[in-house]
Amino acid sequence: MTAKAPITQDVMTLPRTLAQEGRVNLVGMTRDQMRDALVAMGTPERQAKMRVGQIWQWIYQWGVRDFAAMTNLAKAYRAQLAEHFVIEIPELVSRQLSTDGTRKYLVRIAGGHEVEVVYIPEEGRGTLCVSSQVGCTLTCSFCHTGTQKLVRNLTAGEIVGQIMMARDDLGEWPEPGAPKDETRLLSNVVLMGMGEPLYNFENVRDAMKIAMDGEGISLSRRRITLSTSGVVPEIARTAREIGCLLAVSFHATTDEVRDKLVPINRRWNIETLLDVLREYPKVSNSERITFEYVMLDGVNDSDEDARRLVRLIAGIPAKINLIPFNEWPGAPYRRSSNNRIRAFADIIYKAGYASPIRTPRGEDIMAACGQLKSATERARKSKREIEAESGLSR
Ligand code: SAH
Ligand code: SF4
Repeated sequence: MTAKAPITQDVMTLPRTLAQEGRVNLVGMTRDQMRDALVAMGTPERQAKMRVGQIWQWIYQWGVRDFAAMTNLAKAYRAQLAEHFVIEIPELVSRQLSTDGTRKYLVRIAGGHEVEVVYIPEEGRGTLCVSSQVGCTLTCSFCHTGTQKLVRNLTAGEIVGQIMMARDDLGEWPEPGAPKDETRLLSNVVLMGMGEPLYNFENVRDAMKIAMDGEGISLSRRRITLSTSGVVPEIARTAREIGCLLAVSFHATTDEVRDKLVPINRRWNIETLLDVLREYPKVSNSERITFEYVMLDGVNDSDEDARRLVRLIAGIPAKINLIPFNEWPGAPYRRSSNNRIRAFADIIYKAGYASPIRTPRGEDIMAACGQLKSATERARKSKREIEAESGLSR
């Protein structure tokens, strides 16, 4: 009998060189940007707003990439659009399918860089884990992405393009004109892939605005969760300008430990972070904040940590998501035991908080939280560098 093994496929796509021929990509433009671009092309000012709405629907609701198919626009206008613009999304390089149904995509963006995107099917819903940067400038010591040196911010088009790519792969674009489908394979988006979204604020914001727009991807703002390591000055701005749900990579209950795990804590410590989080639900009108807490054996997983955590977040509408540490080659930590995780969860639960333990998904294809890193990326830090940064010396 053969054991079930994950599947890897190379995906061939057509070479995409159109944008290099001077045509501008429409994907990722804000409504205002597209309006201006259409006016510059010669669209009469009074029509431009309506044209933006029509084009958005074709691109984001029905997944159309060819101007010729936009049948509610005049033929000559379609030809004019095709002369000036392209509709381009990141190129799918390979797709891996886990035995649990999780899909990990490797996509190539301009400049030949690669990022990973993960689709996690669940009962009655499906979540896409989207990347916001190539690598990450931060160096959280338990995170594989943090060991990757190369960084570039993704454009808004490359961020929303990941959602479009996944919808292509899942085959779930509705027929043009069909009523909106309420049950979707891709129903939720989490900005929990590679990168720190709040260090790429404008592009993340513009992409999420398209994801939430009724003429865009049409996901409710409650189905989008942005995860940050704690870029304090941008958190209030996230509430005001995006208004999606927020998750925070908390991971420790003392500054001493958090300084090592999430080095951005040296800049904005636990107290400063909690101050801004207290305001978040009021400003964004959103529900609970998710506190992510990675369970590291002997580092942050004691009963005392659990009790301290509960005391720290008192007064903040919160859910605590316990993430069993996902190992990666050379990682300087081990996952806490199941018993330890359960005991920790129990203390939090008894204090009145939901404390779900996140089931690792797609581990066989290295798709679980914190395992993402482009396999082709050659500039890596050595194990020694990683350990030095984490404050561990072995
Ligand atoms: N940069 C953002 C979002 C990406 S990481 C942030 O840090 O919040 C998504 C989540 O996975 C974060 O909570 C992160 O701390 C966690 N994570 C990173 N590496 C992990 C690992 N090896 N095992 C489990 N969780 C990890
Ligand atoms: Fe960057 Fe988030 Fe990984 Fe930290 S946990 S290195 S912020 S991706």
